[in-house]
Amino acid sequence: MRRKLIAGNWKMNGLRASAASLIQELLDGISGAEPSFELLACELLVCPPACLLETVGGLTAGTPVELGGQDCHCAEAGAHTGDISAVMLKDAGCAYVILGHSERRSDHGESDALVRAKAGAALAAGLTPIVCVGETAAERDDGRTLAVVETQLAGSLPELGPGRPPIIAYEPVWAIGSGRTPSTSEVGEVHGGVRRWLEARLGAEAAAAVRILYGGSMKPGNAAELLAVPDVDGGLIGGASLKAEDFLAIARACG
Ligand code: PEP
Repeated sequence: MRRKLIAGNWKMNGLRASAASLIQELLDGISGAEPSFELLACELLVCPPACLLETVGGLTAGTPVELGGQDCHCAEAGAHTGDISAVMLKDAGCAYVILGHSERRSDHGESDALVRAKAGAALAAGLTPIVCVGETAAERDDGRTLAVVETQLAGSLPELGPGRPPIIAYEPVWAIGSGRTPSTSEVGEVHGGVRRWLEARLGAEAAAAVRILYGGSMKPGNAAELLAVPDVDGGLIGGASLKAEDFLAIARACG
């Protein structure tokens, strides 16, 4: 049984004071201020900008809220100005790292091969990579959604060995930050296709252990129906993760 993961991608948002308030509101929300909150129905993760990891990690340590990075370099250390490594994220208290987000692929020209190298570095450092894939609007209009996603999976996923498997986030590029989402049957087609793709390569048992998140304009109003789609094992949430009330409402929709 895969436990759902609700992951907040804060992107380039937040300063120390606002990050601390957001985390405090999240912690208040899950610690009894709302007794009906079924915390154990899902795992909660926040991925703040790197410079806020210490502030956020200081507040989340020892709580059910886990910490993740938004990117890492594929090398452990060295002459890579402005980058941070997976080992550094681990040292800062992270358990996860988002990799290959479409904004990284478009803003920084990240290729599948680079994402794969980063994911390998993340696994080696003891982090669980959340590898993002998804089609553009033009690719969907051309009927190429599954082919594009499968090519990205083949190129971006690291060699899978024993230990915690990577997580896949299916994020249609056109749904990110747009307020538009695919229909639940379209989401089901892609998630089912990803599961079948995994089964063909890893076998049924290993494929069944991989969580596949949906991301792209998930909000309190559509979370329950998206999270109920078979093979949707959680959400990667951008805008709505910046409001504690919305993020918690999405988490509650898992229960
Ligand atoms: C994201 O950036 O991963 C994302 C899903 O953003 P949003 O929820 O704002 O669409």
